[in-house]
Amino acid sequence: MANCNQNNNTDVNKSSASCMPFIDLAAQQKNIRSGIDIAIKKVLDRGDYVMGEEVFDLERALSDFCGAKYVVSCANGTDALEMSLMALGVGVGDAVLVPSFTFTATAEVVASVGATPVFIDSLWDSYNIDPEKIVSAIEASEKSGLRIVGLIVVDLFGAPADYDAIRDIASSYGIWIIDDAAQSFGASYKGEKVGTLADISTTSFFPAKPLGCYGDGGAIFTDNPEIASVLRSIRIHGKGSNKYDNVRVGVNSRLDTIQAAILLQKLEIFPWEIEERNKIAALYNEMLYEYVETPTIRDDAVSVWAQYTIRLPESINRQAVICALKEEGVPSVVYYEKPLHAQQAYSKYHESVFGNRALAVCEKLSRVVLSLPMSAYVGQTSAEKICASVIRAIKQQSNL
Ligand SMILES: *Cc1c(COP(=O)(O)O)cnc(C)c1O
Repeated sequence: MANCNQNNNTDVNKSSASCMPFIDLAAQQKNIRSGIDIAIKKVLDRGDYVMGEEVFDLERALSDFCGAKYVVSCANGTDALEMSLMALGVGVGDAVLVPSFTFTATAEVVASVGATPVFIDSLWDSYNIDPEKIVSAIEASEKSGLRIVGLIVVDLFGAPADYDAIRDIASSYGIWIIDDAAQSFGASYKGEKVGTLADISTTSFFPAKPLGCYGDGGAIFTDNPEIASVLRSIRIHGKGSNKYDNVRVGVNSRLDTIQAAILLQKLEIFPWEIEERNKIAALYNEMLYEYVETPTIRDDAVSVWAQYTIRLPESINRQAVICALKEEGVPSVVYYEKPLHAQQAYSKYHESVFGNRALAVCEKLSRVVLSLPMSAYVGQTSAEKICASVIRAIKQQSNL
């Protein structure tokens, strides 16, 4: 991923066997492999590959885990968002507020259903949407003739956003909230689990997410029975009493039975994994805070650390740090290189509301963020090695 020079590339290729994983899915698989084998075999023996027993077992288990009344599994986290917008009736002529500093899917689904994404700046310390920018964005949108119907909040890198502030604004403007919890399922805010913080919450089971399967998968959470029932219809081609009775336009977005069986196994160790991720994050914080800006989690929230993301001083050449880390066998990734309002596919939406106004915080974040290896399996020794490499790279760059 890093565009390091030829010499570095050669070194890395030579030492690639000793390069540690960015997310250690192999160690996790080793931990749970025998249970996974048995779970997959059960599905193969029965043969109910689509909408089989484990799909419904998983929906119940996820509901028990997070406290949401209704859980609708689906094919991936992007579909989970798009189906939610469909269930809310969002379409042409509507506008939806989204953070600009997030993965593409958050805004993509708004455009996909024909609505306009309106981009909001982020907070420097938490990387999440800045509640104070929401009101001005709603007012600017109205001036441009756009009707804001809702807000998609992202709990970026696994940490919940500031829901009390966000919910106050949403209720005073009468707009709904979707929590794009693709990175934060398992996290909590003021003792409430993600999945219950918004009108609808969505997640992704892509392998690299905190709770991932061995392929694509997703789920939608709500306490609203009508929305849940519309989502179950949308998931299977807008079915009515059966799939050949079509009462609305839907999609095909089912979670495979095998993936549900795998997720049931992974869910059993998930609470332990969340604790381990928090231990690694605490070690990183302790070792790095004097050299870089470490991520800030609210005292009343628990993160699942989808990413552990530091901010480098702006004077430091980030690409050189990435290459120095790579040479020492430490992978690192930039999430995200470019905020969405500045992307070719989305800049026209931003300009239609804000002209060429910058979103200063997320633009600066894009220049300085760097994510380090994170999983429940990093271990203290690797965490120390990673931090030593980061500190060495930064000192080296500061002296240049
Ligand atoms: C991963 C991700 C998604 C999309 O999930 P998929 O399962 O890959 O479709 C959506 N939003 C955010 C913030 C994500 O990180």
